[in-house]
Amino acid sequence: MTEFVVEALAQTVVPVAGGGFFPVRRVFCVGRNYAAHAREMGGDPEREPPFFFCKPADAVVTSGEVAFPPATAQLHHEMELVVAIGRGGADVAAADALGLVFGYTTGLDLTRRDLQDAAKAARRPWDMSKGFDQSGPIGEIAPVAKIGHPAEGRIFLKVNGEVRQDGDLADQIWAVPEVIAALSKLVRLAPGDLIFTGTPDGVGPLEKGDLAEGEIVGVGQVRVRII
Ligand code: MN
Repeated sequence: MTEFVVEALAQTVVPVAGGGFFPVRRVFCVGRNYAAHAREMGGDPEREPPFFFCKPADAVVTSGEVAFPPATAQLHHEMELVVAIGRGGADVAAADALGLVFGYTTGLDLTRRDLQDAAKAARRPWDMSKGFDQSGPIGEIAPVAKIGHPAEGRIFLKVNGEVRQDGDLADQIWAVPEVIAALSKLVRLAPGDLIFTGTPDGVGPLEKGDLAEGEIVGVGQVRVRII
């Protein structure tokens, strides 16, 4: 028996629709995967290959409440389709990529936009703007066995009942198989990995007390109160 000298990290788990729990290993996120959002962030969607950043596994939360984080005056919502990897693989072809997927869910890539803007300007890393505590609230995972592989469908987010983001999965610049293929050329994917696949346009601020309710038709919902 290993004797840890400090308290060991508790396994982050996400409930699965129909029963069981998905153990989170790593959290990867795609930047700028919808043309209209790439443009609103000042980018050129046609010329940039997919790029990735990470959140810690324990940034994933399912409780429905997120504390407004420190060190920011600009907490932004990014509503996203999240892929749950069930089978490992490296250097996977796009044609084989969906074979790695256990299921899908909805998530918010919460972002300290002011820190991200400062990091971009100084050419510094994004970790503190993207990977803070509770920065990855997600919904229940829907297994492929239940919903298949959604390639289209409305993805939208309401804040206090008002629609803020409203897009369609079909508008992703890189579809899920291409995202998995590209990421698997950088790291060996493993069971338990999550991939946030980017947000449609309409990102904006969340304040204390706000209720953010996101849905992807055919996938599920995520509901978060900022406290
Ligand atoms: Mn994002």
